[in-house]
Amino acid sequence: MKASEVREKYLKFFESKGHKRISPSPVIPENDPTTLFTSSGMQQLVPYLMGEPHPLGKRLTDSQPLFRAHGANSDDVEEVGDNRHLTFFEMLGNWSLGDYFKKEQLSWLFEFLTSKDEGLGLDPSKLYISVFEGNEFIGKDDESIEIWKSIFSKAGIKAEEGERIFTYPAKKNWWSRSGTPDEMPVGEIGGPDSEVFLDFGEDLRLHEKSSWKKEKCHPNCDCGRFMEIGNSVFMQYKKVDDGKLEELPNKNVDFGGGLERLTAAANSDPDVFKIDIFWPTIEKVQEVTGKSYEGNEKPMRIIADHMRAANFLASEGIIPSNKLQGYVLRRLIRRAALKMRNLKSDFSADDFAGISKEKSVLEEVERFKKTIEGGLKEASKIEEINGKKAFDLYQTYGFPLELTIEIFSEKGQEIDREEFKKEFEKHKEKSRTASAGMFKGGLADHSVETTKLHTATHLLHKSLRKVLGEHVSQKGSNITVERLRFDFSHDKKMTDGEIKKVEDMMNEQIGKALPVSFEIMTLDEARKSGALAFFGEKYGDKVKVYTIGDPDGDWFSKEVCGGPHVENTSELGHVRIIKEEAAGAGIRRIYAKLA
Ligand SMILES: [Zn+2]
Ligand SMILES: [Zn+2]
Repeated sequence: MKASEVREKYLKFFESKGHKRISPSPVIPENDPTTLFTSSGMQQLVPYLMGEPHPLGKRLTDSQPLFRAHGANSDDVEEVGDNRHLTFFEMLGNWSLGDYFKKEQLSWLFEFLTSKDEGLGLDPSKLYISVFEGNEFIGKDDESIEIWKSIFSKAGIKAEEGERIFTYPAKKNWWSRSGTPDEMPVGEIGGPDSEVFLDFGEDLRLHEKSSWKKEKCHPNCDCGRFMEIGNSVFMQYKKVDDGKLEELPNKNVDFGGGLERLTAAANSDPDVFKIDIFWPTIEKVQEVTGKSYEGNEKPMRIIADHMRAANFLASEGIIPSNKLQGYVLRRLIRRAALKMRNLKSDFSADDFAGISKEKSVLEEVERFKKTIEGGLKEASKIEEINGKKAFDLYQTYGFPLELTIEIFSEKGQEIDREEFKKEFEKHKEKSRTASAGMFKGGLADHSVETTKLHTATHLLHKSLRKVLGEHVSQKGSNITVERLRFDFSHDKKMTDGEIKKVEDMMNEQIGKALPVSFEIMTLDEARKSGALAFFGEKYGDKVKVYTIGDPDGDWFSKEVCGGPHVENTSELGHVRIIKEEAAGAGIRRIYAKLA
């Protein structure tokens, strides 16, 4: 089965259960400075899971491309190389926003996975389940266990705990944005989750061949025998004041399953790199290196994953660089190039010509080739290598540690990895403070400061139109925790008087303590109501309109926008324009801060 068929089957299946398809959010978030990439399917649904009504109703489904470059506890890029880990992938998702719960979710999921006609036709006897085992806050998720038992029993399978259904602690089977129940702040929602695993069978002897062979194999074993193909999160609780968890009146379901893994499962092959998304790339690599995939899986998988991700990022307009998304792109290309070098002892852009059509990707390969040549020269001057010198090579020439190790092991020299790591940590600490919170990933962190600045952006937009004229329209926006940046169409430099006028107008609205609220309407109604619509978040033909002021009376600004915003302009305090400059032909840029 092709990945595209699996995607369509899934969406159709959940549509048949009353779900509406929503469009995925962009992988590179607009107007969200706190995350580099969209890294979870529910990111765009957070306000609705917290209780806001969604324009398309209570049952939603989508396929969301995701990018994971920095995991919470590990580096996702370094994890690639086994049979299932990816940096760029697609997450199939379905949600219940205070509608159906465990029984429907688990039954439908099982039906989709096992049905031969409407689903993937997986053999139910190969499915295994994980459930939350309970802790001092919340008991075991017996409800899910009972539902799973009855589902399996209808399929003629006896599902006992410890044999088919396995319980795990909160670290594995609990979801909240902040982690396990004890880590949840007051007001945070969370709940147990239940994962489905596919057993590729004992015959492959994956466990016996792995480094875990001395322990007993189980669904969460990392040997590769079991593959997690979907997770149903049950948002059931809210943390309350005295450290307890309370049942939510409206319980949500959030399901996510990796498209690539589900496709591999449908094809009964534990290797996701054998699916149609990756295999053509692997074939190309075999061709240019003259080596076969068998025996060279790891480097070839890394090339296939990284190049797919790199091609995607490049097609989104990201350029390899030393900053933010550009840095991730550079790292992916360079790692892929190094793997190519491992396979054929040299590499050039030609090796990648059949794998990437992106000019910037191929240019980066060539640039890296030059770096390596320069670094090799420098490395040959080093008589005795150590961790510090290895880090200098890395820092100055972009020379990866694995390459340095390789070169010096030829000379019979070893590198103290710990020493390198120490240097690296020192450096990371520095860059971490420089880009505070930037790599946190996970859910869009709508921090208080960025939310305020977002509302200030709406005030600025409207004030500019009032002071400069109706030709002003938003051309771009970027918010960090410290300031807002706003690009707009206007063909000359603003005078000091104009800047003062705009600033005063914004502060006047803040002083009036205007309420901020939103309504859902059609784009047409939005335009008729006077709302500005540029970068609107669209759901089918419905949009969200944020009003500053009284929506039916005296309002200052109406704008199509996904939010979030503060509830009242008085929360902003005082706004100050700190800079006005050109940002391209006919485009001006303003920086502003709150104090
Ligand atoms: Zn195992
Ligand atoms: Zn907005």
